[in-house]
This record gives sequence, structure tokens and C-alpha cells, in this order.
Amino acid sequence: MSFADEARALDAADPLRSARDLFVLPEDVTYLDGNSLGALPRATAPRIADVVTGQWGTGLIRSWNDAHWIDLPQGVGAKIAPLIGARPNEVIACDSTSVNIYKLLCAALTLRPGRRVIVSEPGNFPTDIYMVQGLAALGLAEQRLARGNPIADFVDDDVAAVLLTHAHYKSGRLHDMAAVTAAVQARGALVIWDLSHSAGAVELDLDGVNADFAVGCGYKYLNGGPGAPAFLYVAARHQHAIANPLSGWMGHAAPFAFEDAYVPAPGITRMLSGTPPILGLAALECGVDTVAALGIPALAAKSRLLTDFFMRAIAGTCPSVECVSPAHPEPRGSQVSLRHPDAYAICRALIDRGVIGDFRDPDILRFGFTPAYVGFGDAWHAVELLAQVIEGRAYDRPEYRERAAVT
Ligand SMILES: *Cc1c(COP(=O)(O)O)cnc(C)c1O
Repeated sequence: MSFADEARALDAADPLRSARDLFVLPEDVTYLDGNSLGALPRATAPRIADVVTGQWGTGLIRSWNDAHWIDLPQGVGAKIAPLIGARPNEVIACDSTSVNIYKLLCAALTLRPGRRVIVSEPGNFPTDIYMVQGLAALGLAEQRLARGNPIADFVDDDVAAVLLTHAHYKSGRLHDMAAVTAAVQARGALVIWDLSHSAGAVELDLDGVNADFAVGCGYKYLNGGPGAPAFLYVAARHQHAIANPLSGWMGHAAPFAFEDAYVPAPGITRMLSGTPPILGLAALECGVDTVAALGIPALAAKSRLLTDFFMRAIAGTCPSVECVSPAHPEPRGSQVSLRHPDAYAICRALIDRGVIGDFRDPDILRFGFTPAYVGFGDAWHAVELLAQVIEGRAYDRPEYRERAAVT
């Protein structure tokens, strides 16, 4: 069977084929960058219009109570919880992933007095490592990068926590979360999982693997919109013992008592700092509702089929590109990354022709397969176009080599 015929057959058999209608997507675009910025759910614009004109415009400050704005961080967190294998009171939506990493690093350090080393991987997403370096500059922590495997070999009695990204942003390679968590905990340290590239597309079972802490982005597979609030997970067993280093009034036990002394709120609420961004949380809730309605098992199953089809079609059609994502579906996230010396120019040429993927320095072409709105025909179209752009050297133009501010 040709790849084109196979794509048609897979689309016809896809139980999620009509889910694309839940999103607003331009007709002439094949969107393979939902791992960087998820598409716009159809529910979002009307919801935001209502929050702006109704709740804000008419309700004014009364909406903090009447429209339950004040409970939105916990409410959206509770909806994210089942998508990542957590209980509703273990997740809260707030701040950015970067800020939440900082808060959890400090929380982990306070749970492990006498230990001050944070272990991470070289090549981890930069903000994760930069946050460790910020703490180190204040003299509060020491960074150790694990140059080799297994990671647990780098954990000794000085290590408070290990900070890892579950799905690597460049390769899409997944860590074995259960095995790493158990091995690190056996050496007395805690694990902070960054789920930015897995939440919403990959099966996750934080409680099942006895996770300690996790964070993740709201604007990738959760479709919360540009700069959406992130989420933060703290296992119930740790919540009473941790402190939030950004001890703001929204994490206080009684914010409207306006007391001089900080007293942390019970439970996950203590991880809040300032006033929640209501517009962003409302948009995030629409994105999360959309994912939840489709269900992670169906999304994750389709994701594996999509990436498998794309990788086989690439191998059969574009032999000059090297695939750097895992060949086996088990350790592969919802993306496929290809290596080519002209990756940046090729990426720009593809975008000009309606196939949107992205580029990661120095030579990676990255394609995200958001199972909710990407079909097998889309995957095949991208492969055909990529082959055409490479064979015809259509990317070989000076304007395709000029780097934009955001890549
Ligand atoms: C996208 C991403 C981030 C982004 O963090 P922000 O604070 O939202 O900018 C952090 N970590 C990982 C692993 C990511 O993929």
C-alpha cells in the first residue's frame, strides 16, 4: 500500500477524526507545532468574550465572588489532575513553568535539610537549568549535571532533588518515570518532573509512580493560549511540609485578614503567590476541557500511530534526513525530530508553503503531532512537501536563512 493510501485508511479508521472541529484552524495550514503553541479551541473565544464583557465589564469586582474567579487556580488545577494521574487537590494552575520550577526547587530543598545539590541533565530545557543556576547564585543550591546514565548514579547524600523533563524538547525521548522516580527516591532525594511536552498527549500517572513534584505548560498540548498559566503538582503527602519561597498573599491562609505575619494556606493553595490571571485561566480551562473530553487514552494511542506513520513515511521518502526521535513507540513522546544541516532554512520554506513545524538549534527540524487535530493525511502532506523542498533545494534562498527572533 502506498503511504497516501495508508494515510487515507488510517484517517478513515481514526476515532478522533472529527475532533479537529473542536479547534479553529486555518484551512490552508498543516499545523505541526502544537507542542510549542497549541491551537485555538472553538470554545475559547466565546468564553473569553463572556469573561471580559459580562464578568469583568458588568460584574466588575463582584465577579471575584459571584463568578468564582478566586477559585479558578484550584478549579483548573483539579481539571488538569486526571490528565496527569493526580488527585484534584494535588494540582494548581498558576504562574509560568519557570516560576513554578523555582518554587518547587526551594520546596524540595526545605524537605531535605543538609542536602543542597540539584541534579539535572545537560541539554535539558534551558529555563529548568537556569532556575537551578539562579538558586546557586544566591548560595542556596549547587548544580550537578548528570553526564551519563543512569541518572540515579549521580544521586548521593548531598542531593536534595533531581529535576528532569519527561519528554525531551528536542528529541521527544521519554524518561521512564516510574523507574527514575523509584531509583532517585531510594537514594533519599526527591524528583521534580517537568511535563511541558507530555501533559495532554501522553499517558501520565503521577500518583501511580509515587511522584513528588511536577510542573508543566498550559500553552502546549493543553491549548491554553500564548503565555497561558502553567500548572504545578505536589503529592498530597508533601503538601503540609513544604514552604513557598514566593510567599505572597494569595498563598496565605487568610488573604483578606491582611495580617502582618505570613501563615501558609493549607494544601496546594500555599503554592500561589499573587493575584491569579483570570483571562489566562479562563482560556486555559477551555483548552483543558477540550482535551479532557477526548480523553488521554484515545489521544495517546493516536499519537503513537501518527508518529509511527510519519517516521516510516520519512524513512521511505526522505532518506537524506536523520530521525533523532526514538524508533520504538514506548519511549517516544508526541513529536518527531529530524536532523539536517539546513534545518532552519528548510523549516522556513515549509512554513511558507503552509506546513508549520519548528526549528531547534543547531540542526533539528521538529514536528509536533497533536492527536486532537492532526490527521494522517496531514502527516503525509508534510512528508511529501519536505521531500520536495529538499530535493528541489527550494529552501536554498537567503531570506530563509535569516533568523527570526522566535524560532
Ligand atoms: C516550553 C517549556 C518550558 C517553558 O517555560 P515557560 O516558563 O512557560 O517559558 C519549560 N520547560 C520545558 C521542558 C518546556 O518544554
